[in-house]
Amino acid sequence: MARKNFSKKREAIYEAICSTKSHPSAEWVYNTLKPEYPDLSLGTVYRNMNGFKDDGMILSVGSVNGQERFDGNTKPHSHFICNRCGDVIDIENVPYNMQADEVVRNVSNCDIDYHLTFFYGICGKCKNIEEDNN
Ligand SMILES: [Zn+2]
Ligand SMILES: [Zn+2]
Repeated sequence: MARKNFSKKREAIYEAICSTKSHPSAEWVYNTLKPEYPDLSLGTVYRNMNGFKDDGMILSVGSVNGQERFDGNTKPHSHFICNRCGDVIDIENVPYNMQADEVVRNVSNCDIDYHLTFFYGICGKCKNIEEDNN
């Protein structure tokens, strides 16, 4: 019984991550599922999310404002991260920079399979808030 309950939570955690493009943190998943699963603990969410990551079901996009953020989309793609609000936005169709692979191969003597790009700046939403205040 407990086991069935656990796997249902596990499923809910995975679904919560995949249901959003916001690249959620463990805290976000916890807060989203808590009303439906009152006995859910943050530790359970962390443990399951790390398990999904190890299994390649989700990706980590690194730490933003001190919180690790995750992605249910495991297809290689680039990201924009807002320095102000911490939004992580998918950026598709960035032209692939072969030259960058060449440079890295030369300086590191490593074979490059691929690279992913992170763009940092101020997102459209924050820009609008800024303009409204002026
Ligand atoms: Zn922003
Ligand atoms: Zn993404």
